[in-house]
Amino acid sequence: MEQAQFTDRSTCISCGSSRLSELSSGAFDEGEVGSFLRADPWGEDPMPFLAGRRWTYVQCGDCEQAFHRYILNPQWNERRFSKWMTREAIEAFEASIKTPQKAFEKAARNTAHVLRLEALTREIRTGAVRLLDFGCGHGEFLAMCNLYGFDAVGVDRSSARRSNALVPIFPELSDVSGPFHVVTMFEVLEHLDDPRGMLETLTTLIAPGGVLVLETPDCSGVTGIHSLADYRKIHPLEHINGFTPDSMRRMA
Ligand SMILES: [Zn+2]
Repeated sequence: MEQAQFTDRSTCISCGSSRLSELSSGAFDEGEVGSFLRADPWGEDPMPFLAGRRWTYVQCGDCEQAFHRYILNPQWNERRFSKWMTREAIEAFEASIKTPQKAFEKAARNTAHVLRLEALTREIRTGAVRLLDFGCGHGEFLAMCNLYGFDAVGVDRSSARRSNALVPIFPELSDVSGPFHVVTMFEVLEHLDDPRGMLETLTTLIAPGGVLVLETPDCSGVTGIHSLADYRKIHPLEHINGFTPDSMRRMA
């Protein structure tokens, strides 16, 4: 059986320091992490490829940014997107957490964002709000923006999500052109191999005086994976970067 291959992020993803200390580590196929991974819905089962491989959650000694040091290499990450996280697996996962109450709260939050962004960008535009939602999923937020008359586009890497989208969504950042009055990243930073590099790229697409919206799980106090709540925040295949309000502000 093939083994999944990993890339070693040996320097801090935020400040570049090599002073990293281990917060926790374990095997993918053992303990709580093994049970949680086996319970997640998948297309192709990743467990045989992860047997004997280890995850290591580290923290930077200079800026306190926390992250998973070993991440799937680009080839295996592509396999994760195309074979492990199929459309059916994503739908099964989302169905397990999407209650009417959660859906209401998310839509209410999105409405609040739309109203705030319209007001915040009045002085830098004459026409519609131009908005890019990077990592837009099925495009729920974009659909709402469009209802309010925004000129909104999305980019998402997951072909399963794009094929099931509410609005046209592009696979690559190079498919869209700025400047945008607003760039949003909801629940994206925690997934990126190089979050700082992506922020630097996105910044070049924002009009002067424009707005960047970042939302990511608050991992304050999470140093290991002992509970399902910990796992949801720092899942070693999915949430490879753990932010606190301070560390997110510092990177931005
Ligand atoms: Zn650092």
